[in-house]
Amino acid sequence: MSFASLALSDFLLSSLERLGYEKPTPIQEASIPVILSGRDLQGAAQTGSGKTAAFCLPMVQCLSESEEQPRKPRHLILVPTRELAVQVGKALERYSEGAPKRVRVMVAYGGVGYQKQMTAAAEGIDVVVATPGRLIDLAEQRAVELDELELLVLDEADRLLALGFADELNAILDMLPERRQNLLFSATFPQNVISLANALLNDPEKIEL
Ligand code: AMP
Repeated sequence: MSFASLALSDFLLSSLERLGYEKPTPIQEASIPVILSGRDLQGAAQTGSGKTAAFCLPMVQCLSESEEQPRKPRHLILVPTRELAVQVGKALERYSEGAPKRVRVMVAYGGVGYQKQMTAAAEGIDVVVATPGRLIDLAEQRAVELDELELLVLDEADRLLALGFADELNAILDMLPERRQNLLFSATFPQNVISLANALLNDPEKIEL
């Protein structure tokens, strides 16, 4: 299996070649076609499996294809920690280099000032990578509006819940349009993650590797 056979755009194939990714990892091979098809997905994936690229590549492909220039974010990735937010934001930037349309990425996490994140928001955003608390703050200040969201990713859902973000997640879900694609990735599936997945996902493809 090659990246080319996953129907990824030429600019993404060039990015992957530049990064030295020779072939998709198993989670990428299984997830990318499902995500591109628009279905919901539940993925069991450890760190190191290549899960970040598994969801970022199809997202970049989708965002770089659209003609319109929306100011409001279309995709949202919720992550448990600032470190992961930075890492996922960098991955999105790396993969989208050379895209026919610039993909505008906003990374938002707590513990730092609002100004830089608010300035980024004012310039228009395609995809937000955020920790839940800071996203709620930005949404309450109307710096980020989530009513045109098309795709939600929960990355490391088990850690999001273990860190006590259940209430924040529910508050964020209430801000999103009902019709959207949902992806949930988690290393483990204790009962609270299963309940979250059942509440969030609509007839998902389940991938366990
Ligand atoms: P992740 O599991 O998403 O944290 O990714 C683990 C590491 O593997 C990251 O440093 C990625 O850049 C790298 N990686 C992801 N996919 C591939 C691939 N298909 N080939 C080689 N390296 C990869």
